[in-house]
Amino acid sequence: MLITEPQAPARTAGTSQLPRVDHFINGGFVTSDRLFDKRSPLDGRLIARVAEASREQVDQAVAAARAALRGPWGRMSVAQRVDLLYAVADGINRRFDDFLAAEVADTGKPVSLASHVDIPRGAANFKIFADVVKNVPTEFFEMSTPDGLGAINYAIRRPVGVVGVICPWNLPLLLMTWKVGPALACGNTVVVKPSEETPQTAALLGEVMNAAGVPPGVYNVVHGFGPASTGEFLTTHPGVNAITFTGETRTGEVIMKAAATGARPVSLEMGGKNAAVVFDDCDFDAAIEGTLRSCFANCGQVCLGTERVYVQRGIFERFLAALKRGAEGLQLGRPEQPTTTMGPLISQEHRDKVLSYYRKAAELGATVVTGGGVPDMPDDLAGGAWVQPTLWTGLGDDSAIAREEIFGPCALVMPFDTEQEVLRRVNDNDYGLATAIWTRDLQRAHRVAAAIDVGIAWVNSWFLRDLRTPFGGAKQSGIGREGGVHSLEFYTELKNVCIKL
Ligand code: NAD
Repeated sequence: MLITEPQAPARTAGTSQLPRVDHFINGGFVTSDRLFDKRSPLDGRLIARVAEASREQVDQAVAAARAALRGPWGRMSVAQRVDLLYAVADGINRRFDDFLAAEVADTGKPVSLASHVDIPRGAANFKIFADVVKNVPTEFFEMSTPDGLGAINYAIRRPVGVVGVICPWNLPLLLMTWKVGPALACGNTVVVKPSEETPQTAALLGEVMNAAGVPPGVYNVVHGFGPASTGEFLTTHPGVNAITFTGETRTGEVIMKAAATGARPVSLEMGGKNAAVVFDDCDFDAAIEGTLRSCFANCGQVCLGTERVYVQRGIFERFLAALKRGAEGLQLGRPEQPTTTMGPLISQEHRDKVLSYYRKAAELGATVVTGGGVPDMPDDLAGGAWVQPTLWTGLGDDSAIAREEIFGPCALVMPFDTEQEVLRRVNDNDYGLATAIWTRDLQRAHRVAAAIDVGIAWVNSWFLRDLRTPFGGAKQSGIGREGGVHSLEFYTELKNVCIKL
């Protein structure tokens, strides 16, 4: 257990009882002169000190990644890489409890959630992309030529090189491996910058990489912050060939500018202001269950989560009442308690942001259906980043509450009358990540799913993910698609070979 063991292993080699989380560079754990605090979101307790990478350490990580491309890793066959990635997935599963403890300690999320979503999906990401590279063909064209002898064309994929991986804190292992899995499957090497809020599982994965026999330098981790720190050092580093990022849209814009130097490719998975659209012919109970999850899972800190709920007028009051009951039935508490269904926000800083929107909603004249503040927690949790699950009505589509991503356990619930009207309102937003449509009318489901400007449209479900499908955002929610073969487009350079016969 990363946080609770006093005799911590190398990655957390603290001199006192307080563990230290170190960088993983060239197959070994390395610390820094500068350390920063990692506090528990549950109670504000200091739980670890984390090394902050200097520019020189980022240089070392990038150099190690570059050298690994020229070493045994670069010469491996696809079959050998696939075997290694399977071993990594098995290694995560073998140390499931360690990963679970680390993720829960960093995020405060319920064990029931992390054990069903974060950790198994983290492991699965290595297997799914190993299978993709093993099975996906490239194209072949025969062509005729004036001399009648013809030519053939075939495509081959080559790694893009050293990939910089910048990650958020909401689903740390899952979203990091979602990028590292395909990057390695395609033969690249990576330098990962986890969120400063959630450094532990990325570091722990270094141990798994070593145990699986992944050569040194293939997987590197450097900890730190964004601007004027590790994130900036990495994304501006000329030795990084491509950058894949998940996080806020504003950060993505900065990273895109950094990537412009050297004309380096970016994959950006960014913010959302996702709408649920509930028609009056829906399966009412399923729509309630799904909407409660999409609004409140992971304390509302899911990029695909719902913060706007459009409900057709005929069922509006009944739907709102059921949603309110569901929100008030959520159990805030310690992650390990089986009854806990909602944890805290990630940090006090993020809580300040979410609470500023709670205040803004009240100032704008919203009706607070439930929540709207800070819950009474027992003394031992009083220092945590807790907020109440919150529902509002009474504000329109133009309000900040309907337009800006809050990233908390909250939603604005609004009535609508017609399909045409709701489509216009849903699409009138800068973001375009995901939507959930609730209806029993199949024709309407297809029509509405096609008409909403998003990268992912669910019908009668939410967060149901087949990892072979394209994942990404429209408008300001993202650039590019990852998932299945789509990840190959980013993590490989596709080369055409033309042979005159
Ligand atoms: P964030 O943008 O604040 O930080 C993400 C990462 O970028 C962190 O590692 C951070 O240190 C780093 N960073 C910050 N500034 C940087 C800079 N100037 N240069 C380089 N790196 C920098 O995002 P967050 O608060 O960690 O995560 C929440 C956000 O992520 C929300 O907006 C959410 O919607 C989004 N998100 C999107 C998806 C998706 O798939 N579209 C998935 C999860 C989260």
